[in-house]
Amino acid sequence: MSDSVSNTTFSDRNSGKSDLINPTLVLNCGSSSIKYALISEDESTRITGLAENLGLDTARIKHTTLNGEKLEITIPGGRHELALQKILALLEQYHFVAVGHRVVHGGREYSKAVRVDAHVLEEVKRLKILAPLHNPANALGIEAVQAIYPDIPQVVVFDTAFHQTMPAVAYRYPIPKALYEEEKIRRYGFHGTSHAYVSERASHITTAKGPHGWLTAHLGNGCSAAAVYDGKSLDTSMGLTPLEGLMMGTRSGDVDPGLHIHLKRLLGMSLEEINDMLNNDSGLLGISGLSNDLRTIEQAANEGHVDAQLAIEIFCYRAGKYLASLSCALPEFTGIVFTGGIGENSVTTRARILDVMRHFGIKFSEDKNKSLFGGGEGSFHDEDSSIELWVIPTDEECQIAKETRQTLGF
Ligand code: AMP
Repeated sequence: MSDSVSNTTFSDRNSGKSDLINPTLVLNCGSSSIKYALISEDESTRITGLAENLGLDTARIKHTTLNGEKLEITIPGGRHELALQKILALLEQYHFVAVGHRVVHGGREYSKAVRVDAHVLEEVKRLKILAPLHNPANALGIEAVQAIYPDIPQVVVFDTAFHQTMPAVAYRYPIPKALYEEEKIRRYGFHGTSHAYVSERASHITTAKGPHGWLTAHLGNGCSAAAVYDGKSLDTSMGLTPLEGLMMGTRSGDVDPGLHIHLKRLLGMSLEEINDMLNNDSGLLGISGLSNDLRTIEQAANEGHVDAQLAIEIFCYRAGKYLASLSCALPEFTGIVFTGGIGENSVTTRARILDVMRHFGIKFSEDKNKSLFGGGEGSFHDEDSSIELWVIPTDEECQIAKETRQTLGF
């Protein structure tokens, strides 16, 4: 197996090191990709990168140095282990003091981040029953670091943990009790680090008196909303799996649970085929027939593509309807926070979702809404609006680094 570096300027190896004081390495290992970030103790400096197409001929690492230079390292056929070896070699010189891993499912066991030991690693692996694509890749990341740096402390930050504060009324499904007690069938919720980060940030920057009640709308390729009161998640749109809730890029979100048996009877589809269709061929892609990327759909809609127009309408209608219903979970409703690729950038999607919630007395400035995109943070509600409206770019890496340091007492 060969590897090559297409941009060989490794000037970051000797410059700017002093800016990265006591950095934490954050790893987000997916089924065919690894996102990473090295973040300084004061969170002001970072190095980032992405290994993608793992296992394929086109496997590569895209690395952005401390100086902003871009490197591309090709690792044809390389899998997680090789990619992690290369990533760790690129970052070794910065002497990271801890590694924080994003782990998708923590089941019922974990309500906060924990330091990795043999038991925790076994639990991450065991919980693949609830996250078959993600937890095994997360475990690979932990083991790869252990093999090379056995003495560096590692922490796992679970996507589900933030939602462990949900009350039973929100997390139980109305199905037989034994399925909950014996098989742990319940709602867990996901995107926890993102909902935690943006709700905490909103509480930090608002001038409204607390405790605050936020609806956080994480709208990206995956989409979820949460009701967060006084820093605690009280309900969220995703459930046992990340398929429940809002319409997403390729995921359907809520459908009639009777759909499965109907499709089996009608078309002879297997459960696996139906699951694949609901996860990979539905959502914006399924309705538009064009793409899961909202930018492509918005462009087609502007050019008169009827299915693209309908995809946007359904996306916004379902998001608005969900936010309205989640407001029931909040003792007080301070405002809505938009985040994720769509929530941060699509001015028209934000406006359409708020239009669906037209009975709430929400008032906002179109100009202020238009000014918020491309990483901008700010509010766009009018003074006499019933609730506040914020756009806050999410920063899951920063949240994971923070929880890692807190867990280790750094
Ligand atoms: P994420 O998964 O958070 O990276 O978000 C990906 C989604 O954000 C995709 O549907 C993109 O089309 C969408 N997105 C990113 N930038 C824009 C933009 N400027 N306008 C509309 N949608 C955008």
